[in-house]
Amino acid sequence: MVQNESYCQAKILDGKALAQKIEQQLKTEIATLTPQRGRPPGLAVLMVGDNPASAVYVRNKERACSKVGIASFGKHFPENISQQELERVIDQLNQDPRVDGILIQLPLPSHLDSVALLNKINPDKDVDGLHPINLGRLVRGEEGLRSCTPAGVIALFREYQIELAGKNAIVIGRSILVGKPLALMLLAENATVTMAHSRSQNLAALIRQADVIVAAVGKAELVQPDMVKEGAIVIDVGINRITDSEGKSRLVGDVAFAGVADVAAAITPVPGGVGPMTVAMLLQNTLTSYLKGLS
Ligand code: NAD
Repeated sequence: MVQNESYCQAKILDGKALAQKIEQQLKTEIATLTPQRGRPPGLAVLMVGDNPASAVYVRNKERACSKVGIASFGKHFPENISQQELERVIDQLNQDPRVDGILIQLPLPSHLDSVALLNKINPDKDVDGLHPINLGRLVRGEEGLRSCTPAGVIALFREYQIELAGKNAIVIGRSILVGKPLALMLLAENATVTMAHSRSQNLAALIRQADVIVAAVGKAELVQPDMVKEGAIVIDVGINRITDSEGKSRLVGDVAFAGVADVAAAITPVPGGVGPMTVAMLLQNTLTSYLKGLS
């Protein structure tokens, strides 16, 4: 990648544009495959309760499915649904030949055991890559369905030809959804990976050593310009809603974008960076399991 000399304007890693490109390719592929195979790929998104943020995410996923020709088998359940009933639904979807992917929109209400539910999903339909079998495959470096957000980050690195081998990468945040699988994926790309978290000491000093910084914390503008090495690559996974000084609500990431963009060589915006890539990877995973199921 060509790097700016003074980094006063970091290259924007445009996740929205890349997601659109991937979705166009998927649409073309699915349009060819559907008549040949007698059915389109199918995705079931399960949502429980009325969390407004979850409702937006689910709607975006279903809209993206319909754009590329994936059939949606989404189900929306009341807040008080029982564990047993949800497990029964997952069993049915596991057996349903029209369904290639099953995703449980998290978080779930506290009376439900989300880990037990995730473990019920057939690993070959686990398009969120959260089943222990798929996480195990990731640890072992075997093929398998990969978690969508980390896979989206890796796809951005590939698109912009950002070399990771030998680079010092730091992942801030150690969730099973983002931080942990992403650290393993960066390791698989031969980066030297540091994982930082809420108990890390001297976070600023750790970040300052990194050539590649990924923030997946959920704390608005945690990463400040003075923590970033000049010329670093900065990926902002965080999504935080804040009210600005004028009383307006807006989304910001875990990185103080304006200042960090003056120091970094490349940076993802929020919104329009990692978020759209997560959806694109979900669609891609659904196609992967459709192709596997039919072969
Ligand atoms: P999480 O709450 O499960 O994990 C947060 C992690 O941050 C924890 O591992 C914790 O140890 C670490 N952490 C907390 N405070 C810290 C601090 N002060 N310093 C260093 N580390 C600290 O969150 P998550 O599900 O991994 O999500 C993280 C962020 O990414 C959230 O803002 C979420 O909305 C966003 N997210 C975005 C996408 C996307 O598609 N763009 C997808 C998933 C999550």
